[in-house]
Amino acid sequence: ITDQLADQRRAAWSDIARRIAHEIKNPLTPIRLSAERIARRLRAGGPDLPETIERGTKVIVDEVGVLKSLVDEFSRFARLPEMKPEPVDLAALAASAVRLFEGVRDGIDVRVDSRLSRDRVLLDPEQIKRVLINLIDNALEACGPAGQIVVRLSDGPGGVTIEVADTGRGIPLRDREKLFLPDFTTKGRGTGLGLAIVSRIVADHNGTIRVEDNRPRGARFIIELPAA
Ligand code: ADP
Ligand code: MG
Repeated sequence: ITDQLADQRRAAWSDIARRIAHEIKNPLTPIRLSAERIARRLRAGGPDLPETIERGTKVIVDEVGVLKSLVDEFSRFARLPEMKPEPVDLAALAASAVRLFEGVRDGIDVRVDSRLSRDRVLLDPEQIKRVLINLIDNALEACGPAGQIVVRLSDGPGGVTIEVADTGRGIPLRDREKLFLPDFTTKGRGTGLGLAIVSRIVADHNGTIRVEDNRPRGARFIIELPAA
């Protein structure tokens, strides 16, 4: 089984490399075309020069933004960040992740519902925040213009449970086993890396992650972290 897993991993990595190469090429074309157009106009002169520059630089800045987020996400996945577990106020950490999404969209309500009896949980705060951001980001995307997203925290003798539930479009059964692979995405501009990063961080914490249907609709990601 271990050999098979290693093979699968290698295959997944070469898929990622291909995908990254492809994704980087996409924004390069509009960047080059914009730069060429600006240079051409600059030489030719004419009254529409400022407009050409404005439009061209906007395309360049936008596409560089796309490249940057791609590279950020890729390097986060490629790097093996050292786990730095410490006793953390998980409710406060979740609130800080949720705050990033406040007012992002009028019809979306994002909140934390904490029923933790522990004051502190031993985990890597930066990485778990990254997990929450990825899950909330996906939930937001799945909700479209309106919906509710709840980050629910609870614990018991066995450990801590973190749930991210949304009222979005939900996840078809056939997609569920592919969800956590590094190249699975249903979005035109998605990288497919988000949930791969999430599951890796959860595994580094010796935890598990699974997805279920949310009721009455949407998806519910459930992370269980063992008691330290
Ligand atoms: P990306 O967001 O770049 O597509 P992810 O690994 O974060 O990559 O997610 C993979 C896919 O899983 C998404 O494209 C989407 O189809 C599906 N998905 C993830 N989270 C949700 C959710 N909360 N509701 C519905 N679909 C989801
Ligand atoms: Mg995502």
